[in-house]
Amino acid sequence: MRFKTLEDLDVRGKRVLVRVDFNVPVRDGKITDTTRIDRALATLNELAGNGAKVIILSHFGRPKGQVVPDMSLRPVAEALSEILGKPVGFAGDCIGDAAASAIADTPEGGMVVLENVRFHAGEEKNDPEFAKALAANGDAFVSDAFSAAHRAHASTEGIAHLLPSAAGRLMQTELEALSAALETPAHPVIAVVGGAKVSSKMAVLGHLTQKVDQIVIGGGMANTFLYAGGMGIGKSLCEKEMADDARAIIETAAAHGCEIVLPSDAVVAAAFEEGAASKTVGLNDVPDDMMILDIGPASIDDLKSRLQSAKTVLWNGPLGAFEVKPFDAGTNAVAQEVAALTSKGQLLSVAGGGDTVSALANAGAADDFSYVSAAGGAFLEWIEGKTLPGVAVILAD
Ligand code: AMP
Repeated sequence: MRFKTLEDLDVRGKRVLVRVDFNVPVRDGKITDTTRIDRALATLNELAGNGAKVIILSHFGRPKGQVVPDMSLRPVAEALSEILGKPVGFAGDCIGDAAASAIADTPEGGMVVLENVRFHAGEEKNDPEFAKALAANGDAFVSDAFSAAHRAHASTEGIAHLLPSAAGRLMQTELEALSAALETPAHPVIAVVGGAKVSSKMAVLGHLTQKVDQIVIGGGMANTFLYAGGMGIGKSLCEKEMADDARAIIETAAAHGCEIVLPSDAVVAAAFEEGAASKTVGLNDVPDDMMILDIGPASIDDLKSRLQSAKTVLWNGPLGAFEVKPFDAGTNAVAQEVAALTSKGQLLSVAGGGDTVSALANAGAADDFSYVSAAGGAFLEWIEGKTLPGVAVILAD
């Protein structure tokens, strides 16, 4: 996959529209985590340093095409200004005169944040007229919101047809990491897929069977596979109606030479509660009145030894109910092993999607993975093998 990057754009003296994801978490009007702003800085600073007028576009919350004052990007513009230690302009609308005059007031090398693109219904509809109105304020477009690239919206997709366009540095890093793990990986590749439900991961599993050498299935979704294989799983979370689908995945995997790895033991408890009495059992011995909440020590050892010979790991979803101790032990041990092997240079490891980021952070392992994507839905759609509309528009010819 070849895509355009900042090297492909001439930005000096140009108005450059940059789509970022500034959908930061806010509590009581205060930004509680600036990670999304921090991750955009490389692109914003590079463009400003190269003499562009940097015009920032983002969504924030779900205002559904209405102006919702609580979902204004003004506080985010202020936070960006504070982080950069220099003024950042703000326009009360992302199109029209308000935007044009704020941009006219922005010096070359300066930055201005335009108001929430989702205040206009045309954004999520990918309305060509709205895309045109956005594009009217720029000479070039930079897409730096991988996490929004699975949506064909005006500011992620429509606009890129109207202006010279390229990936920003964050988008570039995401695409390079995902390509290294899934498109051109060093083999053997192990995919670790956990989480609550098989039904939400069917497309992921189906695609991975064609791409990787082993799929380690953990978390609640492993229960459905165990049930489909005739094991007693007590009161465990299980989607019995998905048993045929689980068997079909096992068959597809076998046809592609991909091994499905299920747990060999489990940590069980009578209730999913902090401090609930728990014990380790073999998978033939799960008591009828208990539930599987984590993988057991034999499974952990098995995964550790498999990781020793792996070259690439792709990780999505926890191996157990990690939010409640001690059911985070399996996820922690395996994530720490991946982190250690990555630090030694033995492994390329890429993770992302849903609860994965917090599960790896809880394990203290996130910093040592090769790359942890902050994108949820976009990461999952990528590992389902889908073409993301916001990526398709920045591919090189
Ligand atoms: P997902 O959003 O699909 O990645 O699922 C993450 C959720 O799966 C977390 O909230 C975990 O608590 C839950 N989970 C993982 N393993 C189990 C399990 N064995 N039983 C119940 N829930 C689980």
